[in-house]
Amino acid sequence: MTQPVSVAVSLPAHSALGSTLSYESEAPLAPGTLVRVPLGARECLGIVWDDAVPTATADAGGAALRPVADVLDALPPLTAPWRMLVAFAAGYYQRQVGELALAVLPQALRELDRTQLARRLKKRKPAGRVEFAPDSIAPTPEQALAIARIHAENGPFLLFGATGSGKTEVYLRAAAQALHDDPAAQVLVMVPEINLTPQLEARFAARFGAGAVVALHSGLTHPQRLQSWLAAHAGDARIVLGTRLAVFASMPRLRLIVVDEEHDPSYKQQEGARYSARDLAVLRGKLETDALREQDPGGTAMCRVVLGSATPSLESWHHSRPAEDGGRYVRLAMPSRIGDAVLPRVRRVDMRLQPRGTRIAPVLVDAIAEVVARGEQAMLFLNRRGYAPVLHCTDCGWKSDCPHCSAFQVFHKIDRSLRCHHCGTAGRVPRGCPSCGNPDIVPMGQGTEQLEEQLAALLAGLTRPDGSPLRLLRIDADSVRHKGALEAQLAQVHAGEVDVLVGTQMIAKGHDFRRIGLVAAVNPDGALFSSDFRAPERLFALLMQAAGRAGRAPGREQRAEMWLQTAVPDHALFAALKHHDFPAFAAQQLAERAQAALPPFTYQALVRAEARTQEVAQGFLSAASAAADGLPARDAVTLYPAVPMSLQRIANMERAQMLVESASRPALQHFLAHWQGTLHATRAQPAGKGLIRWAIDVDPLAI
Ligand code: ADP
Ligand code: ZN
Ligand code: ZN
Repeated sequence: MTQPVSVAVSLPAHSALGSTLSYESEAPLAPGTLVRVPLGARECLGIVWDDAVPTATADAGGAALRPVADVLDALPPLTAPWRMLVAFAAGYYQRQVGELALAVLPQALRELDRTQLARRLKKRKPAGRVEFAPDSIAPTPEQALAIARIHAENGPFLLFGATGSGKTEVYLRAAAQALHDDPAAQVLVMVPEINLTPQLEARFAARFGAGAVVALHSGLTHPQRLQSWLAAHAGDARIVLGTRLAVFASMPRLRLIVVDEEHDPSYKQQEGARYSARDLAVLRGKLETDALREQDPGGTAMCRVVLGSATPSLESWHHSRPAEDGGRYVRLAMPSRIGDAVLPRVRRVDMRLQPRGTRIAPVLVDAIAEVVARGEQAMLFLNRRGYAPVLHCTDCGWKSDCPHCSAFQVFHKIDRSLRCHHCGTAGRVPRGCPSCGNPDIVPMGQGTEQLEEQLAALLAGLTRPDGSPLRLLRIDADSVRHKGALEAQLAQVHAGEVDVLVGTQMIAKGHDFRRIGLVAAVNPDGALFSSDFRAPERLFALLMQAAGRAGRAPGREQRAEMWLQTAVPDHALFAALKHHDFPAFAAQQLAERAQAALPPFTYQALVRAEARTQEVAQGFLSAASAAADGLPARDAVTLYPAVPMSLQRIANMERAQMLVESASRPALQHFLAHWQGTLHATRAQPAGKGLIRWAIDVDPLAI
């Protein structure tokens, strides 16, 4: 007897078909089983879905069902909590279940048939054993308390620990505890960026043995990623380290999820299903724990979640307010740095008092010289790569606009090119002004290349303590373009072969540099005047992170300095930074947000539309907005007018957006679920003519 089965397959994002399709199977198939099924003329990977995870299954309309082509039963089924996570995320972020479910599996897996899979599994490495390294360091009292509470309470936890307070040690011990409690337990540790994984991987491998740890991120080759995924799915990988995508790793015995630097914007996926891996981590912990309770109602096993940061996202911070005020997260504070390290002294240079055109204030140059003379390193960062963000003609006012974007082409002096950082258009710098022929076209503004050049000139003649010439190094997206370049450059810094490090925010994050005596933000003011209400939050986090790079030099901790060049030295943000007072900063920001009814006190979604003209893009949004009248929960949401995005045109594509807001998250969700259909329908109507694409971004990070 054959029977119908629902299978999640990857359909085009806005396909009118349901979320799963019906097929026919010879034998009953457990939900979560991987199968190969025909889809049109192709055959593709699918996942057997079930009623426990509600989705709309496409009605076959009486036509005979097509049979499942192959069952990949060499692999255990994907677990119920995994399927619920995917189903929830698809619903919440307004995508199809099948699309998301398949997108988060490794591509190499999507392409394997039964025989290839069998061959692949035969080559699998034996299960990695956990080998606990003897405890070499005693936890500080703050660490000990955090570890004890993570073990004793349910969480989710927000580990609010200063940079250098030893958060990683807490993660390691929480992991050790989970692995002790359940000999088959698995632990997921997420980091915001690939380039932070090797460092963390080394620390986890040192503690638990290299065989127990695997990495899972987009920097792996397809075969590597498949290998890591299979190891996690089989339960062999005891500790998985990865970036945001890893929140969907199949880990059947997941007992702990750590999200390091939880405030980092890179946890938010910016295409396809625009999910927040941090928010999904919290949900996943709950789903995994609920499943354990269902199996064993009296049991104590659970999947804990620890979010860690020195500058938590204001959302997480707000969630960790006292429970009696409605907080849902347990806040664990570790304000002290390890050992003698204190946070660096913050010094503000008032740029209004400097000679006109000053890029690096003389006092800062002197301070750098002093630090270098002591044999320590200085680190300067600036959030712009290239030599200058724009070239211009002093005669006629011509500027180096990108012909395809509403942005300037950036001047790169090294290869004398003009490059658009948005669409990639690049060309040689013209000999004279393309508009009037004036040979004198000049750079405006400052990028990292120029900073490096200016520093080299200002510091010329200085030597290291051993008399050899000073060494400068620039690290930014341009310097690390080639594979392995970043690792090599970071190794130079760690080895002390560099005296002055210049770069973008890339260098300010996460790295455990040991010799930095001075950090300087060259021009941080821009974010204070941004139209994005999250800009101050991001700037504060970046500056705190950067400050945390200094003062780790053994024996030199007390002298470290953080310099800010600013034209608004009295700004509240800098005052809070001076006292390293995140709670004060957060309280002030949250008060403003509450007053202005912004997140986390309200809930937002953006609909974005792209077309060849702004009229078409906005027209589509306006039509869909008008058509929303009468939809469920319409009264509980505000639809704002369609507006051009702040970067209005990229690669000849006009971009528009519409903000949707509600005081209630369920109301917003309810409305969006219904409005989706309207958006689809609008696209098929005259108002959708010429529209290239549209997408919904729930809980957007950039407005
Ligand atoms: P964070 O992640 O909070 O910025 P780290 O975990 O990188 O801080 O810790 C900073 C440094 O302190 C690391 O070199 C770490 O090995 C060391 N460290 C952490 N905990 C202890 C401890 N209890 N005793 C001694 N050194 C510690
Ligand atoms: Zn000109
Ligand atoms: Zn461009």
